Amino acid sequence: MTWHVSEEDLRAYARGELAPPVLWSADAHVTACARCRAALAEAADPVALDAGWERLDAELDAPRPGPSERLLVRIGVPDHIARLLAATPVLRGSWLGAVAAVLIMTVCVSNAVRTSDTPTLFLALAPLLPLAGVALSYGPALDPTYEMAVVAPLDGFRLLMIRTVAVLAVALGLNGLATLALPGYGLRALAWLLPALALTSTGLALAPRLGPVQAPSLVGGAWITLLLVARVAGAGGEGALVPFTALGQAVAAAVAVLAAGLLVAGRDRFDRLQGGAV
Ligand SMILES: [Zn+2]
Repeated sequence: MTWHVSEEDLRAYARGELAPPVLWSADAHVTACARCRAALAEAADPVALDAGWERLDAELDAPRPGPSERLLVRIGVPDHIARLLAATPVLRGSWLGAVAAVLIMTVCVSNAVRTSDTPTLFLALAPLLPLAGVALSYGPALDPTYEMAVVAPLDGFRLLMIRTVAVLAVALGLNGLATLALPGYGLRALAWLLPALALTSTGLALAPRLGPVQAPSLVGGAWITLLLVARVAGAGGEGALVPFTALGQAVAAAVAVLAAGLLVAGRDRFDRLQGGAV
């Protein structure tokens, strides 16, 4: 073969602008000639370029990272994790505001109505807040970033741990600030910490079996029931409720360790839980 379609004609051919009769001969030739087909593929680049522009367009339309996301990236958190954390509803202003309001009210009541050496209302409530926070940051019904979480390059368990640590750090920090507002009780006001860890880890460990809503609900209900029973059993006494005594704290620590162990041992279930919920 000595004749080939000219470069100019190939470009016109690729754009669909080549007119007969040149089009017919080009058609027939390109079908038979590998060299011109290769040249045509190169000449067809404008199509690829269009696709490239479309992709760039989509990129420019994507939401810009917010200040918290930029801060996370700046301190070394990988992009996709920073986006997940910044988009976690529990770590946003409204939820934090609600938690802070509840804590402030509880602290005020505890300081105003001082009936014993232990801020029972505060100690009863404080462990429920981290549990609720972790529960609310997990599961499709409550989480608008759930789809993103599912397609993110992280397995379900790792994602769960990243979010849990972030939410726990914030919730425990708020509880800690509230504790500072109860100086009259001394270290006794810190008796919420071990129950908080025990409730959160138990709620997470049970989530693959009972579901992301039922498990924390059941654990929260069990905590309230335990406190009510302890109150009835210790009626008339001036001492702290059993969960806030040394014995109760030891049990809470043991439960927290046990549940954390079960959680890690059953980590595979979380991927199935997440996959099954899609
Ligand atoms: Zn040719």
